[in-house]
Amino acid sequence: QKFVYDFTEGNKDLKDLLGGKGANLAEMTNLGLPVPPGFTITTEACKVYLDSGDAPKELRDEVSAHLDALETKMGKKLGQADNPLLVSVRSGAKFSMPGMMDTVLNIGLSDDSVTGLAGQVGGDERFAWDSYRRLIQMFGKTVLGVDGELFEDALEEAKTAKKVKVDTDLEAADLKKLVKKFKKIVSDEAGRDFPQDPREQMDLAINAVFDSWNTDRAKLYRRQERIPGDLGTAVNVCSMVFGNLGPDSGTGVAFTRDPASGHQGVYGDYLQNAQGEDVVAGIRNTVPLADLESIDKASYDQLMQIMETLETHYKDLCDIEFTIERGQLWMLQTRVGKRTAGAAFRIATQLVDQGLIDEAEALQRVNGAQLAQLMFPRFDEDAKTQLLGRGIAASPGAAVGKAVFDSYTAVKWSRSGEKVILIRRETNPDDLDGMIAAEGILTSRGGKTSHAAVVARGMGKTCVCGAEEIEVDTKRRRLTVGDTVVEEGDVVSIDGSSGKVYLGEVPVVPSPVVEYFEGRMHAGADDADELVEAVHRIMAYADRRRRLRVRANADNAEDALRARRFGAQGIGLCRTEHMFLGERREMVEKLILADTDDEREEALKDLLPLQKQDFIELFEAMDGLPVTVRLLDPPLHEFLPDITELSVRVALAESRKDANENDLRLLQAVHRLHEQNPMLGLRGVRLGLVIPGLFTMQVRAIAEAAAERRNAKGDPRAEIMIPLVGTVQELEIVREEAEAVIAEVQAATGIDLKLALGTMIELPRAAITAGQIAEAAEFFSFGTNDLTQTVWGFSRDDVEASFFTAYLEKGIFGVSPFETIDKDGVGSLVRQAVEAGRKTRPDLKLGVCGEHGGDPESVHFFHEVGLDYVSCSPFRIPVARLEAGRAAA
Ligand code: ADP
Ligand code: MG
Ligand code: MG
Repeated sequence: QKFVYDFTEGNKDLKDLLGGKGANLAEMTNLGLPVPPGFTITTEACKVYLDSGDAPKELRDEVSAHLDALETKMGKKLGQADNPLLVSVRSGAKFSMPGMMDTVLNIGLSDDSVTGLAGQVGGDERFAWDSYRRLIQMFGKTVLGVDGELFEDALEEAKTAKKVKVDTDLEAADLKKLVKKFKKIVSDEAGRDFPQDPREQMDLAINAVFDSWNTDRAKLYRRQERIPGDLGTAVNVCSMVFGNLGPDSGTGVAFTRDPASGHQGVYGDYLQNAQGEDVVAGIRNTVPLADLESIDKASYDQLMQIMETLETHYKDLCDIEFTIERGQLWMLQTRVGKRTAGAAFRIATQLVDQGLIDEAEALQRVNGAQLAQLMFPRFDEDAKTQLLGRGIAASPGAAVGKAVFDSYTAVKWSRSGEKVILIRRETNPDDLDGMIAAEGILTSRGGKTSHAAVVARGMGKTCVCGAEEIEVDTKRRRLTVGDTVVEEGDVVSIDGSSGKVYLGEVPVVPSPVVEYFEGRMHAGADDADELVEAVHRIMAYADRRRRLRVRANADNAEDALRARRFGAQGIGLCRTEHMFLGERREMVEKLILADTDDEREEALKDLLPLQKQDFIELFEAMDGLPVTVRLLDPPLHEFLPDITELSVRVALAESRKDANENDLRLLQAVHRLHEQNPMLGLRGVRLGLVIPGLFTMQVRAIAEAAAERRNAKGDPRAEIMIPLVGTVQELEIVREEAEAVIAEVQAATGIDLKLALGTMIELPRAAITAGQIAEAAEFFSFGTNDLTQTVWGFSRDDVEASFFTAYLEKGIFGVSPFETIDKDGVGSLVRQAVEAGRKTRPDLKLGVCGEHGGDPESVHFFHEVGLDYVSCSPFRIPVARLEAGRAAA
């Protein structure tokens, strides 16, 4: 097994092995772009290190061999006193984890080689000592675990002593003194001296990068981003180039397109006379990349050319890190760049238009989560607002919340239900908790590539950064803009699409994408923006390709009509219990309290016309499309008053001696119907079997409603669904009764109603005996919510609050099985039931209702197991359509 690859040996498809950074450095090297030579230690080596606590023993020799080759190529030796080779040791996992893991620059500098370095650059002592102090600082912090603030404080002191504002004003002698101080900090804090042996520096740095995979903040980030915990990181050893060699040097970051809008152009930040991290950290304010043209035209032109090469080569937006060393441009990193949801749609269609990718590929460039994000509301542009300031639109969305100035408060307040906006001068990885807790993030410094911007975009969280007019005072917990002061707890609104920051709460309006789906905005019309056009086109690509049909969960005509506008091809779940609430509750109470058959029949007779009317409206709204009506499912006690409330009421009334007869009977019924585990109790098909006339009333309402619609020249396509069936016998009994009722209605109206009868598969026994159940069912609809509850033995209503957080933290699942289907367990039962059911009845119709029907990953699974449709809430329909298209593309 080979643990080390030269940059010339890898390529972009080796991300698993070389990490994203290493694979792309190799790709750029092989494209002939100017990359400083180096090599990559594989993730496999990291895995061995993390598993056994030690690097594989072959690693040392392999690294030596590659280092030798690098030294020969560069004509200098690592840390050699008179002519040192310096390298960076850089982390780089398969998935980008911005700022999460460690990188150490300037490895190879020591008390001896620092003068050698000065000699290499024409005797620039200032530069050499600045590089050395940076090494000790970074090495001390990330490798030896010294508190970084100690170095920063010492640097501040040096600046104050010298009465200068920026570090570039410190001279060689000052930096020399600072190095001495830094070394003392290291010996005091780390219990060892700063290592003078360059190879020892390198080896320690490599191990530190391995270790950085498992820091708390890296783990948290992975959980948040659903990155598996066992991938490990690669380590890149890259010869150093210097952006801090004076004004003809510098460092920058760039995008080949605007990651917020997708527009082509020159996007990025540049900082003269600086080394790598300075840009991202927002230490000094950068200039827009376009300014580089006037600073160094030759490098600028070369960079533009390289960006075009990269875009054409990767066929996608790329982001780039580069450094200019005395007029020579070096590429230090590239990757397919993160982008906002809106930009993802726009870029995908732009690339189709440029002929770089085809429609199927365009579908892979977007996803349902991004679409869902685009459907969030935005700020009302016509509202009266008080503008506080303006920053960079770093990650879109409209966020309103109380101002907080530190992560701790953000977390604390959000736990108690407050919406907060985290406001910082700039963020760093220690702010991650607070960023997760906040509705949005506002910073006063840093550009589109600052930590806040990059992380917020990744999380899909609203962010405005670099709002420079705003003075953030974290110590006093407030911000000021001119005379305006915003204290902790004051409400602010931030618009991540425009970069505007407002005082107070700004009202929100629906997103243009929702307006488009609602049919209130048409693609191609003058007022439709580019985003709507792009969404329109991508949806068409998806609809052309998808095999899965998409239905809605809807119980009333209004929802059904919206669902249709959103592209629903029917209703997959109409929950009839919603039709028993409100003023009808009394009738249901009457039904439950009925002592005699007559009383019960009377109650049912009262309910019949109301139910029928509900169905007429629903069938009309979904005319021509299937409507699956589920017969009553929940335990009856849900329709009765709360047991405690009622007990108190009755007790009070009794003490006043005016107890009401009905309340007493209700209380008795509540006690009678009380169950320890109502979700496993008298509900679903069991109600139909135990309460005579209940299901037949519902079936009659459906049949008569269908007949009425037919008489009105409509095209009702009702399907009757029996919930919670565990055995075919239950279904057979209900089916026989239902068929009798349907026959009666058909005879009375003379219409052949063609009503389909089927069942939900939501108990393990039903899934296991699906072959038998299919004898009596024309369709199955997988009720994956109940199926997940019963397969895992989890109560859906309780787990989230009780132990799911612990499970997620321990990595037992990456995501709740109620959110994304558990493929191995629940999914495997679904698969078996699909096969067994189709074996019995080849034309069995198969669908899924329940939350998973609108979950992107689950939709892909349902496509793969061969269901006919998914059903989800109306708002999720576009997401399901898109994901079904992506699954088929
Ligand atoms: P991250 O993954 O956090 O971006 P990097 O490994 O890319 O970390 O390095 C951090 C910074 O140091 C980047 O700005 C990068 O461009 C710069 N850098 C890394 N290696 C070198 C090098 N060999 N020469 C000059 N700058 C470097
Ligand atoms: Mg980088
Ligand atoms: Mg259910």
